Amino acid sequence: MMHEPVGRRGSRMAASSPAAEFWYAWVFAERSMTQMQQLLGRARAVLTDNYGGRQPIVMSRGEGSFVYDADGRRYIDLFAGFGGAILGHCHPALVEAVTTQARRLWHVGNVFYNQPQIELGERLNRHAFAGQAFFCHSGLEANEAACKLARLRGRDASPRRWKVISLHKSFHGRSLAMIAATGNPRIRAGFEPVVEGFSQVEPGDIGALERAIEPETAAVIMEPIQGEGGVNVFPPEYFVQVRELCDSRGLTLIFDEVWTGCGRTGRWFAHQHFARPGGGVVEPDIMTLGKAVGGGLPVGVMYARPQVAALLAPGTHGCTLGGNAICMAAACRVFDVIESQGLLEHAAAMGALAVERLRRSAAAGRIAQIRGRGLMLGIELTEVPSGLMEAALERAVIVNVTAQKVVRLAPALNIPQAVWEEGLDALIATIASL
Ligand code: PLP
Repeated sequence: MMHEPVGRRGSRMAASSPAAEFWYAWVFAERSMTQMQQLLGRARAVLTDNYGGRQPIVMSRGEGSFVYDADGRRYIDLFAGFGGAILGHCHPALVEAVTTQARRLWHVGNVFYNQPQIELGERLNRHAFAGQAFFCHSGLEANEAACKLARLRGRDASPRRWKVISLHKSFHGRSLAMIAATGNPRIRAGFEPVVEGFSQVEPGDIGALERAIEPETAAVIMEPIQGEGGVNVFPPEYFVQVRELCDSRGLTLIFDEVWTGCGRTGRWFAHQHFARPGGGVVEPDIMTLGKAVGGGLPVGVMYARPQVAALLAPGTHGCTLGGNAICMAAACRVFDVIESQGLLEHAAAMGALAVERLRRSAAAGRIAQIRGRGLMLGIELTEVPSGLMEAALERAVIVNVTAQKVVRLAPALNIPQAVWEEGLDALIATIASL
């Protein structure tokens, strides 16, 4: 929308005056601005500037694994909004689920039940382990709920158990408690003093974890694959040992599957990759979800074994809009589409294809390591790149860089192979040209 310059309506400004000349020049400049440049000008005036690496691009439309900016330019999306758009943009089944629910019921608050909540809880029981769900809006809220529940579990012990151990390079969210849990001191800077009771140990080192346990320790929280920390993968045996340690010391084990959940790694949940020697997989006491579970709508889930969940008694915790019917309907449909379209297998196959292709590519000399599982991939470069995201955007492909030199890929699980390969080719050309 054009802003009307002062004096335009009145006749006080003579056509030949310097003010008029300035005004005509200003109008001309504004007219020649693209739609996006105008939007960016407005954005800078009214939005906080807290996101590092935010690009001067306004996205206006999405379809599958493509997004279009306000000037109509098309991009291949290999990052799906930090993994949130797990089925891509505007998936017809999600649009249908949300619009149908929008005509039926939106929000009644948690003094009542609504049917989509129940159905989502049932899907979690079907695809994860037997448990009960608390719904909120985000990953950090789910982790907050998990840590509160672990404290409830430890409150009657002697001494009372309330401390939580996490891992270096972890990321658990940006609330005051979750920046204390997160194993990256940079995100705490400026927000001190930190919330007490959180400490970190070296990932993958079971001895370090054992040594860090204090009489007051209530819980251990970890990501099955560290996302923000650089797509760091640890051997399944480590998680077997962590489970055994938590069992023997009476600690609550929390798996933060905010990044890894809902099929991202080629299994429903990443802990399902961790086989136990006697059969079955390593299950946590509490699993937290965010990002993908809402398919791009704000959904967080704290999901606990029934015996543990039972401690979250009436009055202990809550969330006004958590579990609202529209978000729940979308989340149910996310599970249904992944299941009916065999997207776990597709994610595993596309991940393997990418690793193979990158290893044989013109960019291979600049790649130190490729990590991850399924469609959660981290490509560690030999050197810290400068302007890689921007260079990729120039080639109309969206990727992300974390931990300074790890290029992250997390496309929609249903990305068609041809689009995936086209995006990978653009990325390879980008890395090779750095
Ligand atoms: N846990 C993990 C593993 C994450 O990667 C994130 C966000 O990136 C969070 C928790 C926080 O989630 P949210 O941004 O939804 O609060």
